[in-house]
Formats: sequence, C-alpha cells, structure tokens
Amino acid sequence: MSHSPSQSPDTLVVTAGRPDRAQGAPVNPPVVLSSTYVSAGVPGPDELLYARSGTETWFPFEEALGALERSSSPALVFGSGMAAVAAALSLVPPGGRLVLPRHAYQITLGIAADLAARTGLRVERVDVADTDAVLEAVRGDAGEGPADMLWVESPTNPMLEVADLPALVEGAHAVGALVAVDNTFATPLGQRPLTVGADVVVHSVTKYLAGHSDVVLGAALSDDPGLRARLAGYRTLHGAVAGPWEVWLALRGLRTLALRVERSQRSAADLAARLAAHPAVVEVRHPSLPDDPGHERAARLLDGFGSIIGVRPRGGAAAADAVVDALRLWVPATSLGGVESTLERRRRFATESPTVPEDLLRLSVGIEDVEDLWADLDAALRSVA
Ligand SMILES: *Cc1c(COP(=O)(O)O)cnc(C)c1O
Repeated sequence: MSHSPSQSPDTLVVTAGRPDRAQGAPVNPPVVLSSTYVSAGVPGPDELLYARSGTETWFPFEEALGALERSSSPALVFGSGMAAVAAALSLVPPGGRLVLPRHAYQITLGIAADLAARTGLRVERVDVADTDAVLEAVRGDAGEGPADMLWVESPTNPMLEVADLPALVEGAHAVGALVAVDNTFATPLGQRPLTVGADVVVHSVTKYLAGHSDVVLGAALSDDPGLRARLAGYRTLHGAVAGPWEVWLALRGLRTLALRVERSQRSAADLAARLAAHPAVVEVRHPSLPDDPGHERAARLLDGFGSIIGVRPRGGAAAADAVVDALRLWVPATSLGGVESTLERRRRFATESPTVPEDLLRLSVGIEDVEDLWADLDAALRSVA
C-alpha cells in the first residue's frame, strides 16, 4: 500500500486505493465484471457472494474516499448521491424529527417532503448560517422535543451560506441528535466533517470527486461502526448499488481532484472579484469576497472558498436568461463540479426555494483558462445590459 495517513490530501488522491506493490502487479485496480462469486457452504462475513452486497471494484474507491475524509473506515459507494442521501435519512426513526437547511440540494428537500407525507417524518427548515436558530430548532424549544437528526450542507446550494459546523455538532450532540453533512460542495479537500464530530457524511460523487460530468454516483461515510453497518444494510436492502464502470471512472477522476479544485477555486475567486466590480451585476455571492456573509467562517473553517459563484445580473430573471443564452464557452446545464464551466438560473425550476432570488445564476467554474471564461462572461453581461 503506497498511501499513509500522514500524506497530504494532494498526495492521497493519487496514492490511495492502489493495488499492493508487487512485481508485475497492475498500478491501477482492475474492473471486475461479475454479478456472482464462486461460493459453497455457509458464506463468511467478508466473503464476496453477490455483487449487490459488495464487489471488489468498489473497494479501491471506497478506501480512497475514506482516507481523504480521514475516516476510520472506508466510504460506502452508492448508485447516486441521492441513494446515499436516502440511506442517511433512513437513520431517522419513523415519526422522528429532522432539521434541514432552508437552502439545500433540491432533491434532498424533495425526499424529506416525501418522507414527511408518507411516513410522518417531522421536518423543520432553518437558515443553516444562523447557529442560534439552528440549535433552537434542534433542541425543539417550541415544544416539539429534540431532533433526531440535523442535516447540514455547507456551503449551501445555491446560496453558499456557510455553517459553523463545529458549533452545530456540539449543540446537536448535546441533545442526542445525529449530524449528517452533505460534503459535495466543499469536497474532502475543503472540509472533513467526521474530524469535527459529524456522524455521517454524504457525497454526490457525480460532482467534483468524479469531476468529468460522465458518471452519476454517490457515497456515504461514518466512523461509527453501528451507523456504518446500517448504511451498508440500506444499500443492500434497497439495491442502491453502483456499477463497476462508474466506480472505476470516479476513481480515475479522483486522481486529479486536487489539481482541478486548485485551478477552479483560484479562477472562481478571480471571476467573483471581477463580477463584483461589473456594472451589469447587482450582487455576487462567493465566500472569497471580503464582504460576503460567509467569508469569515469560510476563511476559518474551510480549506478554500470553492468554485461555485452566485451572480444576479442587472435586469431581473429575463436578463439572467439572456446572459445564459449569450454565453458561448460556458455551458448552460444543471449539475456542477465538472472540468467544464457550467451555469443555470436556479429558479427556472418550479421546485427551487422561493427564498432563492428569481435572477440568481449559479456558476460552476471549471478548469478552462480564466481569461477565456471572463471574456465570455463579460461579453454576455454587456450584451444584455
Ligand atoms: C447533485 C447533488 C446531490 C445528488 O446527487 P446525485 O449524484 O445527482 O444523485 C446531493 N447533494 C448535493 C449538494 C448535490 O449537488
């Protein structure tokens, strides 16, 4: 094994999840395509039996992500980010209470609403940047009783609010609530929630970790063996499993995560500063900006400000749509975290939270040359101003 916990994350993305170093061994793990394994008699607990319950092509990726999140255990790979979110939410007991950010990934809000309608899950939405309000909801000060789980996204989608994660973990644990963190936006290079006491971390591997907009995949992690066993059990019971090719692509993408994040974050901070000074722009959200509401916390708690920017062009939603149409290099598309720069007006979705401004464009900065990205943005903004 060529990786060790003392290595920097930039090294770990390259070294973790490699086959043992032996003469003639492959440098990369092989893809094994087999739904079933030779097996007679009573199978042992770690024996490969059937690919829904585990297959060797998952393990190198799971080991690498576990190492990056500084987890005591490997990650659990899931068929999508939402499959991992569903598994994490299954830890809330029937009729239990869930405290959820008011701005969060739309489909996470959707599954919580679905569970509320079908199973009596009690959901309370909060501004995750407002630590007092979050902890008040977690304690159930209005008489509801303490929450069973606090769900955290930080920075949030699409408003980029930054949570005081250590304070939230401490307050939630004081009343016995689990803390689950969707770490998709920050990536394990930006924050490692398990190291500040979070109980569960989930990822949409589709985004930065895989990084090339060519695979849908998810992952969940926990340092608690009991919780991890329940997440693994959910994956097998519900068949929320990943195909071997997807996991292989994700591990291949992960090898360049540090380089991609370094470039896209640097470009995002540069573009955010230029956008903030642009005459056709009303507001820019990016934690790198000194007057951004999340700046102080992001500087204190995150390694890097990320590569998602929120921009409101002058002229409202119609102008925002016109900017999207006028761009030539930036790709109009949902999703984020790929090598290519993409953007969308979030409220084009009827399901997006009404507290997200109608004219907010969410930009996902890729790894292209920053001057080319700026030239395209500047021209599009000027063409509609
Ligand atoms: C995309 C995304 C998800 C869902 O992941 P899929 O891989 O699309 O199922 C969950 N959380 C966040 C923050 C996301 O961006």
